[in-house]
Amino acid sequence: MGPEYPNRANTYQGPGSTPFAPPRNNMPISSNSVVGSDASSFRPTSVPGPVIGTGAPGFRPMQPGRPAPAYGPPTSGPIQRFATPQFPAASQVPPPQAANIGQPIVPPSMRPPPPSQGPPMSTSVNRQPQIPSVPIGSPPQSMYSASRPNMYQAAPFTGPPFPGGFQAQQSSPVSPPPPPPPQVPYQGGYVPPQPTTSTPFSSHQGAYGRAPPAASSSGMYVGSSAPPTGGMSDLVEDFSSLSLGSAPGSFDPGLDTKVLPRPLDGDVEPSLFAGMYPMNCDSRYLRLTTSAIPNSQSLVSRWQLPLGAVVCPLAETPDGEEVPIVNFATTGIVRCRRCRTYVNPYVTFTDGGRKWRCNICALLNDVQNDYFASLDATGRRVDLDQHPELTKGSVEFVAPAEYMVRPPMPPLYFFLIDVSISAVKSGMLEVMAETIKSCLDRLPGSPRTQIGFITFDSTIHFYNMKSSLTQPQMMVVSDLDDIFVPLPDDLLVNLSESRAVVEAFLDSLPSMFQDNVNVESAFGPALKAAFMVMSQLGGKLLIFQSTLPSLGVGRLRLRGDDLRVYGTDKEHALRIPEDPFYKQMAADFTKYQVAVNIYAFSDKYTDIASLGTLAKYTGGQVYYYPSFHSVIHKYKLRHELARDLTRETAWEAVMRIRCGKGVRFTSYHGNFMLRSTDLLALPAVDCDKAYAMQFALEETLLTTQIVYFQVALLYTASCGERRIRVHTAAASVVPDLGEMYRQADTGAIVSLLARLAIEKSLSYKLEETRSAIQLRIVKALKEYRKLYAVQHRVGSRMIYPESLKYLALYGLSLSKSTALRGGYADAQLDERCAAGFTMMALPVKKMLKLLYPSLLRVDEYLIKTPNVDDEFSKVCTRLPLVADSLDSRGIYIFDDGFRFVVWFGRMISPDLARNLVEEDSSTEFSRNKVCLTERDNEISRKLMGILRKLREGDASYYQLCHLVRQGEQPREGFFLLLNLVEDQVGGMNGYADWLLQIHRQVQQ
Ligand SMILES: [Zn+2]
Repeated sequence: MGPEYPNRANTYQGPGSTPFAPPRNNMPISSNSVVGSDASSFRPTSVPGPVIGTGAPGFRPMQPGRPAPAYGPPTSGPIQRFATPQFPAASQVPPPQAANIGQPIVPPSMRPPPPSQGPPMSTSVNRQPQIPSVPIGSPPQSMYSASRPNMYQAAPFTGPPFPGGFQAQQSSPVSPPPPPPPQVPYQGGYVPPQPTTSTPFSSHQGAYGRAPPAASSSGMYVGSSAPPTGGMSDLVEDFSSLSLGSAPGSFDPGLDTKVLPRPLDGDVEPSLFAGMYPMNCDSRYLRLTTSAIPNSQSLVSRWQLPLGAVVCPLAETPDGEEVPIVNFATTGIVRCRRCRTYVNPYVTFTDGGRKWRCNICALLNDVQNDYFASLDATGRRVDLDQHPELTKGSVEFVAPAEYMVRPPMPPLYFFLIDVSISAVKSGMLEVMAETIKSCLDRLPGSPRTQIGFITFDSTIHFYNMKSSLTQPQMMVVSDLDDIFVPLPDDLLVNLSESRAVVEAFLDSLPSMFQDNVNVESAFGPALKAAFMVMSQLGGKLLIFQSTLPSLGVGRLRLRGDDLRVYGTDKEHALRIPEDPFYKQMAADFTKYQVAVNIYAFSDKYTDIASLGTLAKYTGGQVYYYPSFHSVIHKYKLRHELARDLTRETAWEAVMRIRCGKGVRFTSYHGNFMLRSTDLLALPAVDCDKAYAMQFALEETLLTTQIVYFQVALLYTASCGERRIRVHTAAASVVPDLGEMYRQADTGAIVSLLARLAIEKSLSYKLEETRSAIQLRIVKALKEYRKLYAVQHRVGSRMIYPESLKYLALYGLSLSKSTALRGGYADAQLDERCAAGFTMMALPVKKMLKLLYPSLLRVDEYLIKTPNVDDEFSKVCTRLPLVADSLDSRGIYIFDDGFRFVVWFGRMISPDLARNLVEEDSSTEFSRNKVCLTERDNEISRKLMGILRKLREGDASYYQLCHLVRQGEQPREGFFLLLNLVEDQVGGMNGYADWLLQIHRQVQQ
């Protein structure tokens, strides 16, 4: 177990002088103010409302029309103000500076006052006598006693978490070893956001045109599939082909579109990789776009597709398959002295077991005495079976103190909740409060878990959750220009200690604001307040947002409704934040180990482009529920929020991927911020987050046979232990392009391409982004064609590697995805942006499912008697995503991992329909008035059973079910027809036309 803040009261060694703002001289000192060491808290002064003391009821819902009690939301009645600006704004927090090296950096708002100064809070009381309700009586300590030593943890975690790690993989074998740890903790410092890398789509241009070498006969591979159309089957080859017409641009009259390749089995991982290197980590953690690494620059330039990896460091494991935990205890973690690679199955032991050779940089390291074991006749350590780190591609090391720059933080959940009228009316508040309450027992990290809440409308409401209270106490701050935190110590509390107060708060939250008529949103100021409260420890900030931010800093305006902007050079600006406030806040949050998740509910434009930035740079996630209404969306919000709260989370994490000499990672894509050139700062990580990266060759020619990759995620586990999760994989270096294609992984390629495309759409028009996707595919297939066309006389046939047979279709789907499709009218701007943020974080399987959803026919199964379980798999036969797949006598489920659409054919038997929905068969399902609920009959139970099983198999989001009846427009079009990606819809090509077009370009 990690240290539990030993001597926390004494750990803070702050700067000698503090920049803490001195009391302003012009502050009126009121006679009833309290000054001095016993100014334990605010005292109500001339508050018109009831004075709340220890005996007063903590918290009552405000009644409209009555003078607001001091603790009510300040929508009417006398306004209570905490107008005293006292803490510097979040954006004024100085970045780490050279002068601060070696010292924890404390945000000014949290720094203790110099001893000579009076408690600063009292000055604020003095200045504004009309303080609202405040708890008095109970807290006898001064503002900066007790939990104040948390101050120590306010140090931003910017040091190199891998001691010596910055020398990393780029050192050459002859370079001197890095200086031994400990190093200067702030070396490398903090690197501002580097969101979009330069034109990712063009990185491999230029080398095309080079004469291809003949296909290597040694690498020849007996094709796993015969060409779908005749004429080629006698050749032993490694490509598939399609006959698209004797002349470019014309279909063979006999071409059956049924033979077009479709990923109806979902994601099929390349098997060769794992087969060649059985000690590699599982592909759920790491996938390469091709597991044949090119040996030369010229080969790289001919590959045309992204060269890189997709990493999901905490991917969920099947039951019973845990990543082994290794504790070296006194030995210290065994790492290469030079390149800091962690010991792994690919290191080799020599010299009777006294030395080991690093597989990444080839340095010969000494084996420490307590790690020594002799070798057997084959050169293997005799104790191999006791060392998972030497046999498994994935292990987790328990990290000793040198991997910490502060004591491991406790899991921390902070909630920033919009309580304006739309949040209340939609029912969001109620569902949210109820869900959080139901999850309290399952939050990770008990009994260390911390929790806190702020609500806001046109003002900001803080809640004292001190465990000695029976009810939380609300404090309202209405001065939005200079936000401060009224009671810094008790806004964030230990959940176990304050459980009763937290529950009381969640129980009363919906009713407290049920009559709120406030339409404003002081989101920006509230965000800054949350930052001030959280910056001591870091943690997860969950934001529930219903109204476009309208007051104070960070207010946003309506944009995106101007049709004329689309198709111009200004179009992309709609997809990025307009106000730098959001990016700056995201940078501050990351620095202080805060991950932000956005839950957005508005029925109007809410500028997801700006809000999502907070999630994007903090390793967070955007959940978007447009026009949320609890009747419809309750289960979705409940499920997704519960998963967010209870899934295992890695806190205050950083991730680095190392690779062998000659290869270097050049760009990273996903939701995170880079802390140095190759270190991803991830305030929180979980199983639903994946990251993509590209690499390049550093040398003209690689001389090694194998390239090794090692992903290391250093994090704090919820139990308080500091851990390093390490995934290691090997891949062969090859001299031939055909082999690269053979070992290509479409899932990884598409995941990387999708991220690159979304990034591109932030700087270019959608149309240009889509063209770039197409061009990439064309170039790849063109290059491939050059390898084989002449030799095998393929004529006008379209040829493609078996491994990439779905690439073109996924490219089409990507172009038709919500994030990238069409123009102004084809997706609402918020929806588009939300989809983009979501896709940036998706693991491979989830991405492919979104791009090519499953379409299942279920009516036969429903009618047949009985048995649900036995035949479930038969239901799961996926159909091509074309309207032709739909039979008007049938019932179908469309499942993209985010929602279900259940389609009722026009001709289904009225009996069947009656069993499933209440309406008679002529009623339309429009406006979501018809809900699919379990009814008391076998058919309904079976259908609900199917949906349940599908959901269980894919739990990262809740698939809300939409009912659609054939011919019911525009509903059918919106929910289903538009998403049948193989059809020609919305001015976009259908699959066959798309292939033809690509084929034509390939032949040019
Ligand atoms: Zn090494």
